[in-house]
Formats: sequence, C-alpha cells, structure tokens
Amino acid sequence: MATISLERVGKIYPGGVRAVEGVDLNIKHGEFTVLVGPSGCGKSTLLRMIAGLETITEGVMKIDDLVVNELPPQARDIAMVFQNYALYPHMNVHDNMAFGLLRRRQFPSRLKSVLSSAYRAGRRAEHIEISQKVNAAAATLGITQLLDRRPAALSGGQRQRVALGRALVRQPKVFLLDEPLSNLDAKLRVEMRAELRMLHRRLGVTMVYVTHDQEEAMSLGDRVVVLKDGLVQQIAAPQEIYSKPANRFVASFVGTPTMNMLEGTLTMKDNWATFAAKSLQIQGAVDAWKSLAQNSPRSAVLGIRPEHVLLNAAGGFAATVEAVEHYGDRMDVVVQTSGQRLVARCGPDSSIQEGKSISVAVDLTRAHLFEHNETGMRLA
Ligand code: ADP
Ligand code: MG
Repeated sequence: MATISLERVGKIYPGGVRAVEGVDLNIKHGEFTVLVGPSGCGKSTLLRMIAGLETITEGVMKIDDLVVNELPPQARDIAMVFQNYALYPHMNVHDNMAFGLLRRRQFPSRLKSVLSSAYRAGRRAEHIEISQKVNAAAATLGITQLLDRRPAALSGGQRQRVALGRALVRQPKVFLLDEPLSNLDAKLRVEMRAELRMLHRRLGVTMVYVTHDQEEAMSLGDRVVVLKDGLVQQIAAPQEIYSKPANRFVASFVGTPTMNMLEGTLTMKDNWATFAAKSLQIQGAVDAWKSLAQNSPRSAVLGIRPEHVLLNAAGGFAATVEAVEHYGDRMDVVVQTSGQRLVARCGPDSSIQEGKSISVAVDLTRAHLFEHNETGMRLA
C-alpha cells in the first residue's frame, strides 16, 4: 500500500524563490497521478519533495499516514526515474540495474568479519537473489537480450527502459518519474507512453509522473494536477480537465489546437444566451447558464474548442477561410468572421479551401464561459 497526502505543502528555496505554494493533494494507492504545467511551474520541486530530495518548507506530507517531512529519501521506499537516465557507462545493463540493490546492503555487512566463509556464501546468495530480481525486471521491460551491453551500445528508448528497470528492481512502494520520455523522439515517446500505462496496470503501484506536455499528461494520468506558478489550478481526471477546465489557464493549456477565446458581453434572458464579441453575435439556449441571468449583461470570455466550431453548418454566420492545415485524417481551418479569428478542427473536406467563403456555427451548449479578469475562473 502507498498513499501520498499533501496538506498545504509549499517550498521556498534559500534565497527566497517561491517554487510551490499551498498544495493540497491526496494520491490513492495504485493511482497514476500526473503533474503538468509550463516550465518553471514547480513540478520537479514538488516531485523532489515527495522523494525527500528537497526539504519541505511549508505544510505536511504523509506517505501511508506517516508524516515524512523529516524522513530521508532512502527511508521512504520510493524509486525515482529522471529525464537524463544517468546510467554508469562502464557497467553493463545488468550491473546498472543491480547497482542500487548492492549498495543498499553493503554498509551493514562491511562491519562483519569480512573473510568468514559463511559471510562469503551469504554474499553469493545475495548476488543470486539480486540477479533474479534484475532478470525479472528485464523480462517485464523486454530488455533481457540487452543485459550484457553497455549503455553506449543502446538506443535512447533502450536506455530509458534500463533506467526504468533500475527503479523496478527495487520494488518500491512509489514510483516517481520526472519527464522520463523527454529525450526520446516523438514516435518513440508515444510508444513508451503506452508501455508505461501497461506497466502501471501490471504493477498496480502508485506512480507520480511529471511532464510539461499536456498531451502526455492527458494520455497517462488517472488524475492530472495542473500547476502554474507553483499553484494548483485543477486536479481532475483527464476527461474532466478537458471538458470542464477550472479556469482560462487550464482551458488554454490543454488541447490542440488551443481553445478559441472570445472576449465580449454575455446577455442572458432566462436560458437564452447572446454573446457579443465585437460585431460577432452568437445565440442559443443554454440551460446550464440560467443562473447567470441574475448578473446580466456581464463581461465574459467565451471559450470554444476547435472541434466545436462547425463549418458548412446550416444557419451559421458568413466567414472566410484564412488557412488550412491537412493531417490526413482531419484538418485544422482558420476562419475570419466579423473581425474575429476562429480555429476549427474537422474531418477531411476538399471543399474547404483557403480564400473561400464558408458558413460557421458555434454550439453554445458546448462552449465554456470564464470570468473576464486575470484569474478567469469558470462561470456556471
Ligand atoms: P519545473 O520542474 O516545473 O520546470 P522547478 O520545480 O524546477 O520547475 O522550478 C520551480 C521554480 O523554482 C523555478 O522558478 C526555478 O527557477 C526555481 N528553482 C528550482 N530549483 C531551485 C533551486 N535549487 N534554488 C532556487 N530556485 C530553484
Ligand atoms: Mg522540471
């Protein structure tokens, strides 16, 4: 069992940099949690605090109900995998994977009578046991045939597997991974993603994974923690992050192409919504926004995912196609209408061409509404 709980956890580095602030997070046993956010938002700091590699300057952290604020890394039963795998170049894969296990046991035994034959027999048994663990981990990761090779003779993906293997042999309660796939090329990254998910399912172990890549976060996580400037923006399952982003930052950070954002005025009459942005007017019945009628009209930001901008739709408004990007199975289309630019994503359609006129519609029931201020909280 391994649960991790954070209560108002924060970090101020010596020198005064505030990297993490007031994080509340409860990670369940066996959960795959992903910390995601732009570079410098505090992801690595938070992960390193869980690992015990960074002191916790505020709040309380528990692993399995034990307060670990002062507990050193080696007492936490945690294994960490980094972006730069840091394999020992002069050791083969087997020894790289075995190294952590050997070293952990050397200190107490060194104090024993070094030359007794019983001691040496014990060491041999220990080596055999370690090799069994290494072989089992290698089999799990499909790298058995690489055990005799040195890191220089491995591809990037193979090295990454060895780094994972080194963590795996220790059979830790918790796996922490800090951008472990960032050094791999795009295709391999996607493959390793799938492997990591399968590995997680097979091991059933608690994992915390850091990435700046929103797509990686969404595809891997049971739950995703979105961070910005050291502050948690939202904690939810990927689907909820996508369909109910808590604020404008999350809405823009997640999804490609980026959500369209229109600044304007919302007028509600019962459930009938009129959103006016410059000379563009979008109307429709939205029951979910009824409560906003009390404070109407109001300044707001309307968010529309590209797949919810409908092209060639009946009853839409007139627009011009500015740019088309083809991806084979789909296309992204930039349209210009009433002084607004919108990005649409749709299936392949050869009739949509740059420079042509097109009809564009927005289904307000699928749109998002945010406060028109700095925090941009989700409305309704
Ligand atoms: P991320 O992993 O999300 O890119 P980090 O956790 O590495 O972000 O860093 C968060 C913030 O803390 C950044 O502003 C960074 O410059 C700062 N920081 C990181 N490590 C240190 C350190 N050892 N001393 C001082 N500031 C640091
Ligand atoms: Mg980092």
